[in-house]
Amino acid sequence: TGEVLGCNLAFARLLGWEDPADLVGMNARTLYADPADRDAYLAELRRRGSVSGFPMRLRRRDGSLIWVLENVAWVEDPDGSGEGRLEGILIDVSDRMRSEEFERGQRELLALVARRRSLDEIFPAALELLVRLHPHLEAGLHLPGEAGHGQASATPGYEADPATIAACAAEGRFIPGGRAWAWPVSDLEGRVQGVLALRPPFPRQPRAEERQAAETLAQVLALALEHEAISRRLVHQAHHDALTGLPNRVLLEDRLNLALAQARRHSTELALLVLDLDGFKVINDTLGHGAGDRLLQDVAVRLAKAIRASDTLARLGGDEFAIILHPVPGPQAAARVAEKLLACFQEPFRVAGAAHTVSASMGLAFCPQDGEDGATLLRHADAAMYRAKARGKGNCQCYTPELQERLQERMELERRLRKALEDREFRLHYQPQFRPDGRLVGFEALLRWHHPELGMIPPGRFIPVAEECGLILPLGRWVLEEACAQMLRWRAAGCLDLRVAVNVSSIQFADPGWVETVAQTLERLGLPPACLELELTESLVMDPGSEAGTRLHRLREMGVSLAVDDFGTGYSSLSYLHRLPVGLLKIDQSFVRAFQPGSCAREGALLEAIVALARSLGLQVVAEGVETVDQRDFLAGLGCDALQGFLLGRPAPPEAFEELLVRQALGRPA
Ligand code: C2E
Ligand code: CA
Ligand code: CA
Repeated sequence: TGEVLGCNLAFARLLGWEDPADLVGMNARTLYADPADRDAYLAELRRRGSVSGFPMRLRRRDGSLIWVLENVAWVEDPDGSGEGRLEGILIDVSDRMRSEEFERGQRELLALVARRRSLDEIFPAALELLVRLHPHLEAGLHLPGEAGHGQASATPGYEADPATIAACAAEGRFIPGGRAWAWPVSDLEGRVQGVLALRPPFPRQPRAEERQAAETLAQVLALALEHEAISRRLVHQAHHDALTGLPNRVLLEDRLNLALAQARRHSTELALLVLDLDGFKVINDTLGHGAGDRLLQDVAVRLAKAIRASDTLARLGGDEFAIILHPVPGPQAAARVAEKLLACFQEPFRVAGAAHTVSASMGLAFCPQDGEDGATLLRHADAAMYRAKARGKGNCQCYTPELQERLQERMELERRLRKALEDREFRLHYQPQFRPDGRLVGFEALLRWHHPELGMIPPGRFIPVAEECGLILPLGRWVLEEACAQMLRWRAAGCLDLRVAVNVSSIQFADPGWVETVAQTLERLGLPPACLELELTESLVMDPGSEAGTRLHRLREMGVSLAVDDFGTGYSSLSYLHRLPVGLLKIDQSFVRAFQPGSCAREGALLEAIVALARSLGLQVVAEGVETVDQRDFLAGLGCDALQGFLLGRPAPPEAFEELLVRQALGRPA
């Protein structure tokens, strides 16, 4: 029946009880850890009447396992009744069995480590081994170092704090909450990298064998971590230059191919720059290799600071570096980075205790124009770099001569623009806008640049450059200030119901300080906001993803009026237009220009539709580019609110309008 009739004290203690009486009446079958083992054992016993040295695993009172050798025999009662009982002796062989099995498991784990299997495979195997040998325990592992450099701490075998328990639970195989023991997993330098946690079924101190197993496994885990770190280091070394820590040529080519694949997929542009120090050999030969090495390191640091984190800076070898710019919004932007990189060499370097000026020559290849595969781009950037050397060093050349020329022009223009802002070479011209009945409603302020040698440079040429290099911000602030100041002068002369329209580029509008600039300018000058109208481009107004919406509303709340310039050339979403606080549409000149006698039907219909649309949205309409009487009459007939164009008045300096304004002030329209 399996009922326990009696046992001695040693047996009771072996199973975790204090008194033999506690075991009496218990079913012995419940002591066996594994039902399959138990059935085999009972079958053997039934067949032969006895067993000797039969290995079994028993479960202790606290749930832990012991390995025993069973020596049991059937003893018949002497009264001849045929009744009897099983009597036996157990030999505790737990230590030997456990250490054998543990050693086997440990060897398997170490083999995984040696075979460079991933930590994802090793960690679960280690926990599994622990739980196999100590099925009464739960095991958990927390290695914050894997992800970042979190801290972990633990005193061996002591209770883990709740945070550690929670962290171990997060890595699986551990039920959160409760109490647990913890062992630190330390690296070879003794820094704690993680925690191994074990939880018994109820609170108690760890047994010697549990302690030993945990400590050994913690060591194996530490070894696995160390191994992983070493292979990571090796991979890094294979891809990086030891002197500067930068990616080497191998990794650069890798990244270049990756970037090119991305560029193809997303139709983005990419630039490759090759940079070679000028006269490095002289420094190396005269001041020694140590000094040369230091210089290369300093150069690497300066270059790294000049590029974005998403760009790749690599050392190709010797004194040659390469930079991948991706994505880059066009050759001009790449050239600007090249300039910035060249500027890194303006400050002298400290070499061997003295200041040395070092320059660099650069070559630029652009994808897709100059090649679409890595090898070609590298070759072309290299060729351009040699041309830079030939052209006197310390400069950057593009692979394509036309690109080079264009860039040079742009850069020259940019340089002149900067100077022009300082030298006050800008003026505002004003173009009048009239109501169909001939009354002046206001002016559009148009920027003019009068260069002392080059003469008039049209805004169409310099505004895109100013936008690209950021100069549009100070320039735009000046335009706003000047236009508002001019309004004040006209108001002082008695013209109170005029407004001035100022063009705002999308770059200005994207500047977080712009709305504030407008508010401050109006307030400082004391100009009523209703006198100011801002002309915005369609694309800017229509970009639903931008913050444009909120900014427009803030301007509108201020009382400034907003106009959509060049309406009809962009891709307006009409529903979006409807929701924006825009009060006015300026029909693009192309629609007006297309309206010629003879070709009237369709173009007229188009203008009519635009005006009708604006009307239905409750917007005012201004037609610009009005050059002929036909155009004026037609647009006036459609009910445009204002007309602007060469026919009615060309853009001119403010003085040109004195007479007109006097008439206006006297209430006698032109
Ligand atoms: P826009 O805003 O469309 O300005 C109207 C342009 O059309 C002006 O050229 C003006 O002179 C011209 N125009 C006016 N009436 C007629 C006409 O009857 N016939 C023809 N053919 N043209 C006419 P402008 O002054 O050369 O300005 C060109 C562009 O430069 C402007 O186009 C505007 O986008 C930009 N711009 C001008 N000033 C500024 C400014 O201060 N800031 C910003 N961000 N952009 C400006
Ligand atoms: Ca405009
Ligand atoms: Ca326009």
